Amino acid sequence: MNDCIFCKIVQGLIPSAKIYEDDDFLAFLDIRPANHGHVLIIPKVHAERVTDLPESILSRELVLAARIAAAVLAATGMTDFNLFNTNGAASGQEVFHHHLHVIPRKAGDGMKLSIDPQTYREGEMAEIAGAIRRRLDLREPGES
Ligand code: AMP
Ligand code: ZN
Repeated sequence: MNDCIFCKIVQGLIPSAKIYEDDDFLAFLDIRPANHGHVLIIPKVHAERVTDLPESILSRELVLAARIAAAVLAATGMTDFNLFNTNGAASGQEVFHHHLHVIPRKAGDGMKLSIDPQTYREGEMAEIAGAIRRRLDLREPGES
C-alpha cells in the first residue's frame, strides 16, 4: 500500500527502532509509547485488520508476540504486559495496517486501559450469544 506508514517502515523508507525481523514479520518500538519498551508487531503483508490476515500469518503472530513480550519484560524490568490490538477507527485504530501492541506494565504505572461495564437485560445474553454462535458457522476455524 503506497500511503501506508507501516508498509513504508517494512520497505525501509521510514526509519524505525527495529527489535525483530523475519521474512513475514517486523517488530519495532512505538514512537509514542504508553510505557518505555512499547513494541508494535506487524506482518509485512499489508492487511488492515486481524480478520484480513491469512491463517498462516495469524497462527504465528501470537507465538512471536509471547516471545517478544518476554524479552520486553526482561529488558525493561517491568513485571506485566498488555497485548492489545485495534480493528477499525471506532476501536481506536489510527494506522490501518494490522499491528499488535505489546505494552510493558508495572504496578502504579498510571496507564489507564478502562472499560465502563454495561449490563444485559433479561434474556439478552442468551440472545446475543446465540446470534454470535450461529454466525461462527459462516466461517470455519482456520479459514481466512
Ligand atoms: P493504533 O491506534 O492501534 O492504530 O496504533 C498505532 C500506533 O502506531 C500508535 O501507538 C502510534 O504511536 C504508532 N506509530 C505511528 N507512526 C509510527 C512510526 N513511524 N513509528 C513507530 N510507531 C508509530
Ligand atoms: Zn501497510
